[in-house]
Amino acid sequence: MHLDTQRNPDGGWYDRFVRLVDEDGEVVEDFGEHPTLDELREVERRHGERINLWQQGLVCYDCGNQINDRFAAQPDGHLLCWDCASSEDGEEKGGLRTNVDPTKSVLSASKLHEKSLCDYVINVATGCRHGCRFCYVPSTPAVDSREEMLEEKAGVDDPQRDWGSYILYRDDLPERLRQGLQKKDFSDWKKTDRGRGIVMLSSGTDCYQDRRAAQITRGCIQELIEHDIPVRILSRSPNLTRDIDLFKKAGDRIAVGTSIPTFDASLVKALEPNAPPPQALSAGSLQ
Ligand code: SF4
Ligand SMILES: [Zn+2]
Repeated sequence: MHLDTQRNPDGGWYDRFVRLVDEDGEVVEDFGEHPTLDELREVERRHGERINLWQQGLVCYDCGNQINDRFAAQPDGHLLCWDCASSEDGEEKGGLRTNVDPTKSVLSASKLHEKSLCDYVINVATGCRHGCRFCYVPSTPAVDSREEMLEEKAGVDDPQRDWGSYILYRDDLPERLRQGLQKKDFSDWKKTDRGRGIVMLSSGTDCYQDRRAAQITRGCIQELIEHDIPVRILSRSPNLTRDIDLFKKAGDRIAVGTSIPTFDASLVKALEPNAPPPQALSAGSLQ
């Protein structure tokens, strides 16, 4: 399946109707004009297939330029080209500051293989809304060395003190991962120290912490398992149960982990102030 765009005869050059069509050209979904990223990702889920959003005729909601490579979304989900996304001021809601993450790298080699965890990591965002008190991430270079960017994008004064109050998303990560994997020489891939090439999502954030992060995560998993790459997931969020269909499809290529620190509500609040209660992750909701 792929997207098909047609000019609105009553509109300007950039007013286009967007549809999803199958291999025979039959319309499977009709989006009207300007589908949101949320609508597009939801359709992927419904049809169990990932739709690459680059070079599909989608246009930026702000300037109308065609989205050919990097993109992101406004908080309401409207798609933005990279130029417009990079100049957005971000948004603050309920004490959480959000924006887009300009990080260029997609897949990073990781020293976590020393702990038998993985050989590579993918982080779907910078920052984590759970704000766990014990979290080591804000003291790592992935956050600590990016003070300037965090201040510019989300008004963060102190990345460590403010941990839990900012999150910068990487909306186009599945598209960029796809491009990277297509170019990747897998003979080199197998030469990592442990020789296995396991990819973990996400060592520096909860990859299922909210709907937007979960949608990026789903796209990344689909790309990785398509290349037969083993994946590890760690999350504290019950959102991961929405992807059980995908985990089943991935079979033994995926391992999913979570943690339940305690069932004492006051302790959980003290340790993991914004994380969902562990009861949400209890056996009942994971069945
Ligand atoms: S969920 Fe993980 S990454 Fe997020 S704040 Fe807690 S420990 Fe840190
Ligand atoms: Zn634009």
